[in-house]
Amino acid sequence: MKVGGAQPPLSSSPKGRIFDIQHYAVHDGPGIRTLVFLKGCPLACAWCANPESRRSDREVRQILARCRSCLRCAGACPSGAIAETEGRPRLDRRRCAMCGGFECVAACPEHALIIAGEEWSLDDLIARVAKDIDFYRNSGGGVTFSGGEPFAQAEFLLAALAGCKRLGIPTAVETCGQAARADILAAEPLVDLFLFDFKVVDSARHRKLTGADNGVILDNLRFLADRAPGKIVLRLPVVPGLTDDENNIGAIAALAAELRVARVELCPYHPLGRPKYAEIGLPEPPDPPQPLPAELLRIAGVLETRGIRCGPA
Ligand code: SF4
Ligand code: SF4
Repeated sequence: MKVGGAQPPLSSSPKGRIFDIQHYAVHDGPGIRTLVFLKGCPLACAWCANPESRRSDREVRQILARCRSCLRCAGACPSGAIAETEGRPRLDRRRCAMCGGFECVAACPEHALIIAGEEWSLDDLIARVAKDIDFYRNSGGGVTFSGGEPFAQAEFLLAALAGCKRLGIPTAVETCGQAARADILAAEPLVDLFLFDFKVVDSARHRKLTGADNGVILDNLRFLADRAPGKIVLRLPVVPGLTDDENNIGAIAALAAELRVARVELCPYHPLGRPKYAEIGLPEPPDPPQPLPAELLRIAGVLETRGIRCGPA
């Protein structure tokens, strides 16, 4: 059940910026889970399905399919950032001051404007995820922190992990690994499972596809694997033409075998996030094809010949 955009009451406990919470999820870790998506990411992957997660601050999503062209948003904006063009509202993000009240969002009767990112207090978040504690207990599930990159809000993440642990709730963190070592170290005892996204072994190609080389990521992966290899599931985004070539798959198989990670999950590229680029004013990246089942089987075969447990995410 998707509940993104809910406006929680605020209190004085630490605050984090969250762009979605999903309940009763059966992926991203074992059992029945609550997924908490934190805003902000240091990478910009060419196939990213959550581009609204990249910026750490809140932003307006404009869902034009819902718009009835009433132009109330234009009248409400104190910055003059929304103007009428051919009868439709046009949002000039250079002029948008992201005013505190998001007046345009409040004015829209069609929910065609929504805020990506809400401030949540730690207390409210823990109370929210604790509602499903019986489901976690009965199913072996828990809470998964995802993003964006959850370590981009490390202080809040660590506090939230500790809050879950105090209640006996199992935890997972989905990370790209581009994070400060001290934060990884502090998180490790509080995390039952790391869903560690690893995309490309060649560092120059990694930079081209994600905006950063993979030096820090590899160091963190090795560091974690030294301490707790059984806690690591390596996640490989399978993006035809970008990550699925023989060299990359072979190198990832060798790395996974060397590090003795628990498992590798294949995450096939899908285009479901593409409309969101326009909604937040970003250009759409090129659209790679989706991998065919035979392609996934081929990759799984390469991994399994190295003795690595492998499956879909
Ligand atoms: S967030 Fe505020 S400044 Fe930005 S477009 Fe909406 S009303 Fe205008
Ligand atoms: S207020 Fe909403 S429905 Fe009206 S023009 Fe603006 S976005 Fe469209």
